[in-house]
Amino acid sequence: MIAKGKIVVPNNLNKRSNIVGIGKGLRTKINASIGTSSDIIDIDAEIKKARAAEESGADTLMELSVGGDLDKIRQEIISATNLPVGNVPLYQAFCEANKRYHDPNKLTEEMLFELIERQCEDGISFMAIHCGINRYTIERLKRQGYRHGGLVSKGGSFMVGWMLANDKENPLYERFDRVVEILKRYDVVLSLGNGLRAGAIHDSSDRAQIQELIINCELAEIGQEMGCQMMVEGPGHVPLDEIEANIILQKRMSNEAPYYMLGPIASDVTAGYDHISAAIGAANSARYGADLICYITPAEHLALPNEEDVRIGVKTAKVAVHIGDMNKYKERFRGWDKDMSVARRDLDWDRQFSIAMFGDEARKTRESRVPLADNTCTMCGSFCALSNANKYFM
Ligand code: SF4
Repeated sequence: MIAKGKIVVPNNLNKRSNIVGIGKGLRTKINASIGTSSDIIDIDAEIKKARAAEESGADTLMELSVGGDLDKIRQEIISATNLPVGNVPLYQAFCEANKRYHDPNKLTEEMLFELIERQCEDGISFMAIHCGINRYTIERLKRQGYRHGGLVSKGGSFMVGWMLANDKENPLYERFDRVVEILKRYDVVLSLGNGLRAGAIHDSSDRAQIQELIINCELAEIGQEMGCQMMVEGPGHVPLDEIEANIILQKRMSNEAPYYMLGPIASDVTAGYDHISAAIGAANSARYGADLICYITPAEHLALPNEEDVRIGVKTAKVAVHIGDMNKYKERFRGWDKDMSVARRDLDWDRQFSIAMFGDEARKTRESRVPLADNTCTMCGSFCALSNANKYFM
């Protein structure tokens, strides 16, 4: 499956990180993204967030800092976690160009490729690189008119700006062979970034987005043939009824390259609860074939996530992908729920806590409201339906 490009294994060549397979036939994996912003720069807080993501059950971590000493932050995060760490090189590239020339559009191609190599050397395991934005994609965007939700990918919007300001093709597209050669040399997974992902339900599946998806799928095939591990990313905000079609297109056009989906967030009005909106999208994504899901936290669209947001985001995504996997792989994933049902029927509380996805938290809730009878709970007390029915059937 790895040789055929249907599974990738992001790996840190400098140290032993967790072995995480992403792709066909495997459990849907969860990514947690952390990182500083230009407004909040606190390396210790980011290290705590990385550890919180790992403790909560994330499979991979993306280090997406744009504020502070970016080389130092990346190196410290990589050494603080056992998770494979991914990143987006364009962030640091535009930050460095801005620092050096006071203009991100003065970024040079050499700076960009040197930076990608430097990040690979540090032990980055997968990179989201915006290779699929080219002049043709931007033309589609211009012709259809600007979007309801604007452009929401940081790397995507800066790259579009660079191309328009310099009147040049995207070097990551034009010199795609060079990108692949660097990542292949370090065995880093190339995740084709979704720079034109929809930031609004009303922009989903528009011509610009699908155009970029077509190009990314084409590049995934070229990269696979060159011997690099490839993933495709997508698609941003998407209503539930478009998720299946989006995944069918991606799988069909990329020869089933692993699909890394950001949720999707399935509504635009749920700020504060966007992790729930994304979880509903993620359950559907996993069900229809997504392979890696990026979590969304309660702070989405509002603020830089804190440690608690990270924990909530990862756990919510875990719930979502389990529900999706129960439908993607029926036999393999429903046994866990069956065991829990039986423990519940039998009012075997210790067994329930040992089986539950978040058993410690479940135990704390029960212990915070102690029932009068040991075998029931305070929800129904002496009216416990199970306790009553078990007398007749067990
Ligand atoms: S008391 Fe009610 S909620 Fe609690 S175990 Fe019995 S039936 Fe279930």
